[in-house]
Amino acid sequence: MFCRIVAGEEPAHVVLETDDAVAFLDARPVFKGHTLLVPRRHVVTLPDLPADLLGPYLAAVQRLAAGVVDGLGAQGSFVAVNNVVSQSVAHLHAHVVPRTKGDGLRGFFWPRTKYADDAEAADYAERLRAVLEPD
Ligand SMILES: [Zn+2]
Repeated sequence: MFCRIVAGEEPAHVVLETDDAVAFLDARPVFKGHTLLVPRRHVVTLPDLPADLLGPYLAAVQRLAAGVVDGLGAQGSFVAVNNVVSQSVAHLHAHVVPRTKGDGLRGFFWPRTKYADDAEAADYAERLRAVLEPD
């Protein structure tokens, strides 16, 4: 599934593309602007990620964590990786979730929301791309 997004065979609101990774909006976000970062190479879990990709992958996570603040006006972010347990797609993905004090996120219970329509999702993606594009 995520390999198909990386290959451009499945549509997604892509917000960041690097040599090694692609980030796009989670279609069922915890909060709007919730992004998933996947390595281009198919690996299942974080322990499977080759050491030479670890640095570039974390650098992209860092850019997304800054991007949700700069692009969406979030106060901060929550970054998480599920490995095997609670991992819905068997291709490594880091969640970068915009956070704002009082947003109601408690512990690891993640209520999901929906975009009103594809245009709203496209708007969130555009706001993130606007701050993520410059290298
Ligand atoms: Zn894959």
